[in-house]
Amino acid sequence: MTQEQKQVVVLGAGGAGLMCGARAAARGRSTVILDHAEKLGKKILISGGGRCNFTNLEARAETYFSENEHFAKSALARFTAADFLAIVEKHGLPFYEKKLGQLFCLDSAQRIVELLRIECAQSGAEIRLGTKVESVERREEGGFLLHTSSGEIVTESLVVATGGLSIPKIGATDFGHRLARKFGLVVTPLAPALVSLTFGPDFLQRFGDLSGVSVDAEVSCRGKTFRENILFTHTGLSGPAILQISLHWFPGDAIRINLAPDRALEAHFLERKKEGSRRELKNLLAEIWSERLAEKLAEEFALPAGPMHQVSDQRLRELAQSLHAWELFPMGTGGYGKAEVTRGGVATEELSSRTMESKKIKGLYFIGEVVDVTGWLGGYNFQWAWASGVAAGENA
Ligand SMILES: Cc1cc2nc3c(=O)[nH]c(=O)nc-3n(C[C@H](O)[C@H](O)[C@H](O)COP(=O)(O)OP(=O)(O)OC[C@H]3O[C@@H](n4cnc5c(N)ncnc54)[C@H](O)[C@@H]3O)c2cc1C
Repeated sequence: MTQEQKQVVVLGAGGAGLMCGARAAARGRSTVILDHAEKLGKKILISGGGRCNFTNLEARAETYFSENEHFAKSALARFTAADFLAIVEKHGLPFYEKKLGQLFCLDSAQRIVELLRIECAQSGAEIRLGTKVESVERREEGGFLLHTSSGEIVTESLVVATGGLSIPKIGATDFGHRLARKFGLVVTPLAPALVSLTFGPDFLQRFGDLSGVSVDAEVSCRGKTFRENILFTHTGLSGPAILQISLHWFPGDAIRINLAPDRALEAHFLERKKEGSRRELKNLLAEIWSERLAEKLAEEFALPAGPMHQVSDQRLRELAQSLHAWELFPMGTGGYGKAEVTRGGVATEELSSRTMESKKIKGLYFIGEVVDVTGWLGGYNFQWAWASGVAAGENA
């Protein structure tokens, strides 16, 4: 069997792999991007509710979770949100800022897939879909030998861009993590992230029938705080603030929810008491939250019945404190079937932060979600895919 010769093989035609392939080919490197999927960019197509939140203007190393919080700095500084935006504008894609620096396609995520396909075609990077990689060997004389379903390929550089484990039904695999381990690279613990949090029967019995109710809140865990909506569901809690905190939550941790981030509840309660309010505390809560939620909170915090002017100041203070810092212990997460990303991946200590090349194995690169760099919700993960893809594409 003849062996095809390439200078760069990229495994995985997601955002990171396509960006990297286009950059490598633009430098004149013979490049092929392999993917086992039959269709290009499936994850991009389902992203951002079908409109792909393709970057975030606020992306910086602090908006990512990694064992080394400084690792992403270099790549993010050398290929910024503005750099990706310049490509978007070059292709004439209409976009809009939804909120908090999040940029979305105005019409469809398909436009981003098309943009990447064109970038690859113009630079000469070949995209080969429906191709399985059976094995990867390191050659004594340098480079790698790949056995694929479409024949053998010898390459100088191998870029692994096979993504994380989330949404297995559209082709996510642990191929990249296994390959890293096979070559002796450390992979940090993996977990679903940007995902709903599940709770035990106790919580569900108390709050399960609030399913569908959402409330503006501040959610904290391990020193990180996010202010957005939380949503009660039939399995626990979801909504943007919960998805964000799931990136920082580890089993056994409590999360803390401030249900009234804009109000000084203690002063409010004491004030109303001073006015001699004859209202029940429960009814006072219903002025702040919906009646259903107020009812549940009244039960949760064992609110005394009767007019509030009879409730002690101490009890009112305690109640205000509880509502500003409601401590809950999630049981788990919605899992990889629901998660937007995988936390953890190829350890950053194994890679050059400038090029994404393995420090141990010359010519082997890891980019995108397979690396232990995971962004917040809001376009940060694509920005990492582009930036790490460019970093490797300029060097591989
Ligand atoms: C529902 C959902 C919505 C999201 N929305 C957003 C959003 O709006 N904004 C944002 O920034 N992030 C979003 N994300 C996260 C974002 O999609 C990912 O972080 C990003 O796509 C990662 O890019 P990647 O190229 O590293 O990996 P992927 O896009 O996962 O690409 C990996 C590629 O490798 C291929 N592959 C895997 N295993 C093999 C194998 N063994 N052989 C050959 N090929 C293989 C896969 O088929 C895939 O094409 C979302 C994720 C989900 C699940």
